Amino acid sequence: MGNMPSAVKHCLSYQQLLREHLWIGDSGAGSLDPAKVHRLHTPWESQTKQNDLFFLLLYFVFQESSQLSGLPEYVKIVEVGPRDGLQNEKVIVPTDIKIEFINKLSQTGLSVIEVTSFVSSRWVPQMADHTEVMKGIRQYPGVRYPVLTPNLQGFHRAVAAGATEISVFGAASESFSKKNINCSIKESMEKFEEVVKSARHMGIPARGYVSCALGCPYEGNITPQKVTEVSKRLYSMGCYEISLGDTIGGTPGSMKRMLENVMKEIPPGALAVHCHDTYGQALANILTALQMGINVVDSAVSGLGGCPYAKGASGNVATEDLIYMLNGLRLNTGVNLYKVMEAGDFICKAVNKTTNSKVAQASFNA
Ligand SMILES: [Zn+2]
Repeated sequence: MGNMPSAVKHCLSYQQLLREHLWIGDSGAGSLDPAKVHRLHTPWESQTKQNDLFFLLLYFVFQESSQLSGLPEYVKIVEVGPRDGLQNEKVIVPTDIKIEFINKLSQTGLSVIEVTSFVSSRWVPQMADHTEVMKGIRQYPGVRYPVLTPNLQGFHRAVAAGATEISVFGAASESFSKKNINCSIKESMEKFEEVVKSARHMGIPARGYVSCALGCPYEGNITPQKVTEVSKRLYSMGCYEISLGDTIGGTPGSMKRMLENVMKEIPPGALAVHCHDTYGQALANILTALQMGINVVDSAVSGLGGCPYAKGASGNVATEDLIYMLNGLRLNTGVNLYKVMEAGDFICKAVNKTTNSKVAQASFNA
């Protein structure tokens, strides 16, 4: 169970969590693959084996009665806290704290952790130590560590620092693209094309982000057709996965309309959702996406993040809250909730902020 602070260990909510998620067991560190997850999570392998038959029956009763339709069996969580999350924190986090944070996350069972961004420090001072962070982390087997590379220069620096997976970050809104990455959508796609081409040439997988998929802080409504157009461009140039970011929030209704359109061009297996909790809709939006066949979800420990260019936008959906929901749905993630809470507690103390995770709040403040 790791080093959960004693105050947390003994509080009522924590005990409650422990009971509710007893069947999860200790998932081990970072070496999980989807095929093994189900085996690790079966209740009869839980550390408390006293009542194996009871848990076995309970498990099948829940499986039969509480499953919503259309849900995948396994959900891959892409942890974006160290990059997307910290990038938007005002306090500059020391490099050694970032490294320790990522090392802690690597021991939670997460299979993808976005580490940093190879962007100019003039634009994002928080990411100025990208090379030191990339070189400083311990890379655990079975965990992938993508980094953001906005242009060819950043890409080459990332590769030199040891990156083996990259992401490019585009937008479905012209105004947002200009404010956020300082170029038009067309110009950004030309830059990304160079980056993704070079990455493919070197056998490095590239992921594409599309922000403003459910609306833009400057333009308001963004049509699903526009989101599809940008996503298709990224997919066609060779991005293996397109992460659709709401940026300012949305609702299950707008999520459904947007995904229906995008899925006409891109298979659900190549899509991910990236939701913020600005209007308290993140988990509902994610659930909608899962029911539509998406099984990759971005989140940030403690709900770190936000967007400096989108006023009022709150942080990313908290990884703790996402796991809590997925555990309740009996969906496999391979991630240990308690270890994620430990990592969240560590980074919140380091940046002197209160967690945005409702699950962590309920557990720590009971
Ligand atoms: Zn985000």
